[in-house]
Amino acid sequence: MYEINETHDPNLKSWVESANDPNTDFPIQNLPFTVADTSDSAIDGGWSRYNIGVIIGDCFLNLDACSEAGLFDTIADAEDWFNESAIYSLAAIPGSARSRLRSRLVQLLSEDATADERTVVERNLHRCDEIRILGTPLNIGDYTDFYCSIYHATNVGSMFRPDNPLLPNYKYIPIGYHGRASSIVISGTDIKRPRGQNRSDAEKPPVFIPAKNLDYEMELGFFVGKGNELGEPINISEAEEHIFGVCLVNDWSARDMQAWEYQPLGPFLSKSFATTISPYVVTMEALAPFRTPAFERDPDDPQPLEYLSDEQNQKLGGLDINLEVYIQTEKMRNENIEPHLLSRSNPKDLYWTIGQMLTHHASNGCNLQTGDLMATGTVSGKEKSERGCLLEMTWRGTEPIDLPSGEQRRFLEDGDEVIMKGFCEREGFRRIGLGECRGRILPAD
Ligand code: MN
Repeated sequence: MYEINETHDPNLKSWVESANDPNTDFPIQNLPFTVADTSDSAIDGGWSRYNIGVIIGDCFLNLDACSEAGLFDTIADAEDWFNESAIYSLAAIPGSARSRLRSRLVQLLSEDATADERTVVERNLHRCDEIRILGTPLNIGDYTDFYCSIYHATNVGSMFRPDNPLLPNYKYIPIGYHGRASSIVISGTDIKRPRGQNRSDAEKPPVFIPAKNLDYEMELGFFVGKGNELGEPINISEAEEHIFGVCLVNDWSARDMQAWEYQPLGPFLSKSFATTISPYVVTMEALAPFRTPAFERDPDDPQPLEYLSDEQNQKLGGLDINLEVYIQTEKMRNENIEPHLLSRSNPKDLYWTIGQMLTHHASNGCNLQTGDLMATGTVSGKEKSERGCLLEMTWRGTEPIDLPSGEQRRFLEDGDEVIMKGFCEREGFRRIGLGECRGRILPAD
């Protein structure tokens, strides 16, 4: 796990003015990775070249170009990390090597940069609104979704099994399923309402119709950095060394399809039509000031089995990130009504840590690969205002939500936009954010 160091100093200021705005998600203490098309014709969609970079304030710093200009010559092997179509080599290196890059970037972007350095950096700095941000710097090979909020699992379980909400495995296993990587899309991509089987009338056969109960799930995602060999599990004490960073995830879910298909093998087409992610990878090092203890288990709960137990994980395995979900309907957009806050939740309330999820995933010898995406499952808290999906918020559609436009929602309607945000705040540290994850529902064909 990363230590708090000089790159987290709240007094650090950047010569990139927008990075010093107290409300920015991207101060010099953050520096998340992304990929952008920085060619002149990017806006017209013409000839393009994709570049790896970091976000600072409202700008994108092209790291490929900085590397070519020799700015990372003092870092061993750094020339091998850039000018590739993805960021595999940088994601897969030990965290300590990535740490040296972060430290160099902070120096180059801080007020302490020399005039010469600043000139070279400035040449490779682009305003985000003048280029095309393409999103994740990794091609996602595999995607796994967990179910690690005990509040979410208990709420959903009690709707379907009132007498037995939490299944006996829940407190022993970080429950998950294999998702679909090909349908992961970047924030801003429209989502077409899927068609599928609906059997709301138990007396009749199912019908194949546009999904009626379309929902979002507010989740935290994390990317695998260094992978493991097939047959070689990952020790819990080394789990964090395999995590590159985090993003926001919206696991769109068609609840009517899910209710009919999920037994006996779990969700399938009710989830695989689309998953939206935010376009930046916030590194584990940037998150160092925002680590929390693992979930405090009830004294009657079992302790995790030994392969999922670790002192450091217990002490600092949690993540304190404020997650927010907003909705803006078509009517709200037309009437210029601001997006409406639906919920606030925090992954520090998850029953399992991301280290435990990763270790469990590889515990049978399954090989995780650089760029794989894992998501925590819907992040819900104890309170009603902390429910991370509409299924829970409206209690399966029985308690509709009132919107400022006078409309009501049980589930998502065509034209609705869901906007997710994430940010970290802690006394004595600079606020950092994860950016946004948004998507609008289009009608089925
Ligand atoms: Mn999910």
